Amino acid sequence: MKKRVPAIEGWFSLDTEKPHLLGSRCTSCKSYFFPKETLFCRNPGCAGREFEEVPLSRSGKVWSFTNNCYQPPPPYVSPDPFVPYAIAAVELEDEKMVVLGQVAAGTDASELKVGMPVELVLEKLFEDEECEYLVWKWKPVSQAEERSHV
Ligand SMILES: [Zn+2]
Repeated sequence: MKKRVPAIEGWFSLDTEKPHLLGSRCTSCKSYFFPKETLFCRNPGCAGREFEEVPLSRSGKVWSFTNNCYQPPPPYVSPDPFVPYAIAAVELEDEKMVVLGQVAAGTDASELKVGMPVELVLEKLFEDEECEYLVWKWKPVSQAEERSHV
C-alpha cells in the first residue's frame, strides 16, 4: 500500500476514520480561524497575537454549494487534467464558521441541499509512485446513518 500523506501540510489531521480540520483560536477573544491565523487576530475589536491550534468540528450543515468548473488557485491543489467537481460551503457544528471544501466523490451538486448535514472525510486527491495525497472533503450524512444515531 502507498504511503498516505496530506496534500496540504498542517491543514487537517491524518486520521482517516475521524479526520479533523486544524484551525487556530485566538487566546484573547476565542475566535476561530481556518486556515490558521498565526500573526494578528482578524477580529477588529481584538488585539490578540497568540493562537492555539485546535481541531474543528467534523460535522456541519451545507450553507451554500456550487459546481466548480475552473481550476482554483494555490493553496488548493487540483488533479491535472482538471475535472469539474461540486464544492460546498459548510457551517461547522460548534464554531459556526463556514469552511469551503470539495464534495466527496460520488455526490453530484444536484443532490445537495442547503441545510443538509455533512461530515468531514479524507479522499485521495492525486498520487505518484510512492504516495497518495489526501485532501478533506464534505460527505453528505446518509439518512440511514442519521437515523441510527437517534
Ligand atoms: Zn482575538
